[in-house]
Amino acid sequence: MSRTCVFFHAHPDDEALLTGGTMARLAAEGHRVVLVVATAGERGLSAARGDLGAVRTREAHASAKALGCARVEFLGYEDSGLDGSGGSGRNGSGSGGSGPGGFARAGVPEAADRLAELLHEERADLLTTYDPTGGYGHPDHVQVHRVGALAAELAGTPRVWEATVDRTLLLRGLRLARLARDFDLTPFTTAYTPRHRITHRVDVRRYAPQKRAALAAHATQTTGGDGPRTLTALLSLPGPLFRLVLGTEWYVERKRLRAWSR
Ligand SMILES: [Zn+2]
Repeated sequence: MSRTCVFFHAHPDDEALLTGGTMARLAAEGHRVVLVVATAGERGLSAARGDLGAVRTREAHASAKALGCARVEFLGYEDSGLDGSGGSGRNGSGSGGSGPGGFARAGVPEAADRLAELLHEERADLLTTYDPTGGYGHPDHVQVHRVGALAAELAGTPRVWEATVDRTLLLRGLRLARLARDFDLTPFTTAYTPRHRITHRVDVRRYAPQKRAALAAHATQTTGGDGPRTLTALLSLPGPLFRLVLGTEWYVERKRLRAWSR
């Protein structure tokens, strides 16, 4: 039976990195896949000029198309940035109060109402959010966890899966990477989710081409910041290694609210 699955993300490109393979797999298996993005990601690092939010919105649509999404919606909040200051309307980077403001500072009930309305309209069977730490602590990602949990409760969405990364595997990979370039592992020791708490591992190796196309759609995120970006590094991996590194996606299922309807 065909299900409707809503993938809730903080910024354009999060969907491709964390859940792109699952989205492509569900769409290929005949389910309705809907992408909801809280912000346009206008405070992401990028060398691109002009209206970054508008460009990243187009990139999200291209990524969603590559993954087979039936619908894309933006909640219209401002990107809070890693320091959480975005959208305050006081530091020159906000909208001056005309829009709903920075996502991380938005009221959880108000944002959850907006998402719940969409979940209700879609009669969603599954909502994906993030783990309680938002993976690595980005304030907009933590907010996705809070808003998603409440929205699913309001809409009676039966299943909530928190997208995460297997911390054990991540630390093993980072220890290897540290052989080439030394960096502090400490922040990663509490990032994402310890292996024993993960409830679902989704094999997405067959959907590597779709995931790669979705990542590549986020062209603005391959430049900017200090040196090469994560996306550039991932996209340069040869096929077999790409499938190995990005061939699994991880989730923690929140406690069931009511039985999975037949
Ligand atoms: Zn993000």
